[in-house]
Amino acid sequence: MSLEGKYNTKSPAVKRLMREAQELHEATNEYHACPLDDNLFEWHFTVRGPPSTEFESGVYHGRITLPAEYPMKPPNIILLTPNGRFEVQKKLCLSISGHHPETWQPSWSIRTALLALIAFMPTPGNGTIGSLDYSAEERQKLAKKSSTWKCDICGRIDNLLANAEQTSRTKSNTQAEEHRLNSSSVQFQGTASSITEATLSTSSVDISLNEGLRQRLIDSQRQVNSSSAQRKNSVANSEQLTVQSFNNFFWRIIIIILMLGIIFLSIRRLFLV
Ligand SMILES: [Zn+2]
Repeated sequence: MSLEGKYNTKSPAVKRLMREAQELHEATNEYHACPLDDNLFEWHFTVRGPPSTEFESGVYHGRITLPAEYPMKPPNIILLTPNGRFEVQKKLCLSISGHHPETWQPSWSIRTALLALIAFMPTPGNGTIGSLDYSAEERQKLAKKSSTWKCDICGRIDNLLANAEQTSRTKSNTQAEEHRLNSSSVQFQGTASSITEATLSTSSVDISLNEGLRQRLIDSQRQVNSSSAQRKNSVANSEQLTVQSFNNFFWRIIIIILMLGIIFLSIRRLFLV
């Protein structure tokens, strides 16, 4: 690729696309995409039909055109291989593609778009732009035929993807990514807000539980502390009482002795006079 000299490498779109081209350089079992030799803003991609669906044995090829504002604006996806789910040579209506710029997020990538395309294949078209509602048999037939389909630029497409053994590691990664993608697509449909709320409320329940436990611990500690303090107090009090009673007894004796002395002196004076 001699693209580096052709483009302004300071442009965010160019920088981003060059990075993505590097990341997607190696084909996986499920998808592959790379820019055309002479145009960084047009890519060709190949995806494998999702397993356990009527697209299972299919390999599908297409074009991705990227706006100059990418990744602020979404890519456009155009399928070229007949598949029975999406019209060929037409911009696809995926919530991730150019038809729905409001749902696109700049953190998503060409890889995200390809995973979305694979995930959308077995879903019902519901008459949206570029969707076809072929029967399962027709789609299976097209899937079988797809392996011999040729791109004018890339040639035979069935050998553009890696085989399953080579990419068992990347597969688990993409599944995790797909899961994340699904949950994020649920989110922008507005149904996941309740899930988020539920998660939030569970965590707040956790917090309040913890708070309750902590409070109880503090309370019990306080009780222990106060009871031991009380015990200490009572010991001290009893000691104090003993001291006090001893003092009282001592003073009483002295007073009695003094009074006896006074009585004795006055009696002596009376008798001596
Ligand atoms: Zn091609």
